[in-house]
Amino acid sequence: MTQMRLSKLPPFQSWDCRACGRCCRGIYSVPVTEDERSAILARGWADDERCARQGLFTTWRNHSYLARNDDGACVFLSEQGMCRIHERLGESAKPLACRLYPFVLTPVGKHVHVGLRFDCPAVLDNHGRPLPEHVTGIKRFIPEVLPCARMCLPRPMFDRGRSVTPEQLMRITQAFDSLLSETSLGITRRLLACASVAHLLHVSIIDELQNRLEEFLAAATAVALKAAETDPLERVQPRKGVLVNFRQMAGLFNRWDRVEDATGTAINRLRVLRTRLRHSLILSRGKGGVPPLRTGFPEVPFSTIEEPFPIPTGPCEELLARYYRIKLAGMDFFGPPFHNYSYVNGMKSLLLTFPVIMWTARAFAIGAGDTEINSESLCLALQGVDAQLGRSLAFGLANERRRISVLSREEHLRPLTVWYGT
Ligand code: SF4
Repeated sequence: MTQMRLSKLPPFQSWDCRACGRCCRGIYSVPVTEDERSAILARGWADDERCARQGLFTTWRNHSYLARNDDGACVFLSEQGMCRIHERLGESAKPLACRLYPFVLTPVGKHVHVGLRFDCPAVLDNHGRPLPEHVTGIKRFIPEVLPCARMCLPRPMFDRGRSVTPEQLMRITQAFDSLLSETSLGITRRLLACASVAHLLHVSIIDELQNRLEEFLAAATAVALKAAETDPLERVQPRKGVLVNFRQMAGLFNRWDRVEDATGTAINRLRVLRTRLRHSLILSRGKGGVPPLRTGFPEVPFSTIEEPFPIPTGPCEELLARYYRIKLAGMDFFGPPFHNYSYVNGMKSLLLTFPVIMWTARAFAIGAGDTEINSESLCLALQGVDAQLGRSLAFGLANERRRISVLSREEHLRPLTVWYGT
């Protein structure tokens, strides 16, 4: 039996709920366990007027989710924007997914790591108490979220079928974190340094490295930092085929996959499928305007997104660095939380989100008539991309895994990072 401990919570991130209700109205479908489903039914919610009209649950692949109104709001959300379960029965009566949001708990070895969802506006704004002040509250969730976590977990899959100890994985993650914390470099250069180290880890023979990991990490991070510092950041347009695949991936990150899209009537499902196919064709061509990938997505000309943009600085740079550091701390970018990608592939996929976020933020900035990415366009991009990351089942499909694997190779990831990061 293993005693799970909470990993150190990063003090640079804060959070407290502002009761904006966005999580109850967003694309997030709230999963409910069988017990939670029974408890809701036992409380007589099925007779509630609004719930009776809309139904209480949506079922998909043997999992239940809270039903939502046509406007996307949870059936339990009142017109005043309050949770009616909370109002009537108190917070503890709400489904675990609602109580836990925006935290994500991931066990690795003897530690439970805490990630955050950046589709929550308070997380984006760094609003509230620093995370270390949430330790007691988060600890209470551990037995509920990870009932099996006291059993031995398998060693984390590192790369190409090889595994490492959780302690080694933590050490490697700290090395990436140190690169992201290098404030003397702009965010694009920091992410290029991370991509170099990820590539070095991929081509190295991890079995041989295990005994000299410290030495390797010290050398690899020093070399990567030096290379990133002197990189001329020359904008060379990625090859046409790379851009076609990249736009498809950007489209996937920016569409909103909702449970209702897969469970509605046959006509609705067909309509969703046709829209996606149409968008996919437009993204492939890359001519004319970007299709409305989700509600409010700006239909700006593709060509304008390819123009040079200043590297985000100030609050935008801080937000991006914070985003990636929290993703690292959360350890939910690989393994079971991310379609069983290995650590290295998960890391490269995470780094690939940078050009996607920049592509998206450019679209929002251009749509708003701005010539540079500001906090508003960046937040809109981050909210959309992070909502899909790891939650869209599409990332687990063979063709998307292949696409990510190709685009995250060093020869493509670097040019994409520079092209959209400068
Ligand atoms: S159950 Fe309550 S907290 Fe959960 S999504 Fe619905 S309204 Fe929001």
